[in-house]
Amino acid sequence: MPLRRDEAFVLARYPFRERDFVVVLLGRAAGQLRVVARRVRSLRASHATATEPLAHVRVTYFERAGSELATLDEAEVIRSAFDLASRPPAWAAGQVVAELALVYTQPGQRNEPAFRLVERCVACLLDGHDSAAVAWYAELWFLRLGGVFPELARCGVCGVGLPPGPRLFDGLEKRFVCAEHRPAGSVARIAAAGVEWLQRASRLPLEQIGEAPPADAAGWLVSLREAFTEREVKSWRYLRLLLKDGGGADGSR
Ligand SMILES: [Zn+2]
Repeated sequence: MPLRRDEAFVLARYPFRERDFVVVLLGRAAGQLRVVARRVRSLRASHATATEPLAHVRVTYFERAGSELATLDEAEVIRSAFDLASRPPAWAAGQVVAELALVYTQPGQRNEPAFRLVERCVACLLDGHDSAAVAWYAELWFLRLGGVFPELARCGVCGVGLPPGPRLFDGLEKRFVCAEHRPAGSVARIAAAGVEWLQRASRLPLEQIGEAPPADAAGWLVSLREAFTEREVKSWRYLRLLLKDGGGADGSR
């Protein structure tokens, strides 16, 4: 059984057998990875902390031939995300980021851009950045990393540069179009403010994106992700609830 080392984020953890956990990690080198943490509930506190969701950790683990489950050997915390627990919207946004990472990454496939995106999102949440902005930035960037984010600047049919302002999206062909190539069927319109948010978030680091997108751009991001992944991200429900309760900007629908 070869011993491997990696740096990882904890995406999820759930009980397994009598007293063990399965911990789902996003490793910088390994991509998505499932490890069994033995008797972690009775282990010393530091080891338990290292398997808390969104913890940034250094791990060693044993791979087992023919098994998708590796066995955790050691886990050491680089940065805990425990502080998020005292700020429910930040915690909920972190869950959205983790769930998106689960949806978009594959077991055994190195995906360093996805690792860096999660790293950036978790760091911003811990630093007190706007929770909804972080979650929506993750929605946009996982689409970009997945290679399915359409070209915003040009018509997807004729290639003509699109002027500043609102955009028409062909929902069937999944491309932005000029007025001339507006299809007869499914068209989504994103107003100028939403287009501008999408352009800024595509270009700028998360630290410079301080607010959630307008509702039309947010809804468009969700529909694009659902079309591409065929998955609902359930963590959004809780984040939306918290944002409404807090009276904050709720860009989702
Ligand atoms: Zn065109």
